[in-house]
Amino acid sequence: MKNSFENRTGTTCSQSGTYMCKLHPAIDEVVIKGNHFPRCRQGAGHDTNWILMG
Ligand SMILES: [Zn+2]
Repeated sequence: MKNSFENRTGTTCSQSGTYMCKLHPAIDEVVIKGNHFPRCRQGAGHDTNWILMG
């Protein structure tokens, strides 16, 4: 599915945009191309896959 590709915490972002945590759709982060994907901030935080929202 082209528009729901995943981006693991710690990997380099190749497309700037707003991403949501795969496990917590209410958590979103703006990630800029060239930056690393962050950890989700839910609870104590966790590694996740980020899904591009737009
Ligand atoms: Zn999460």
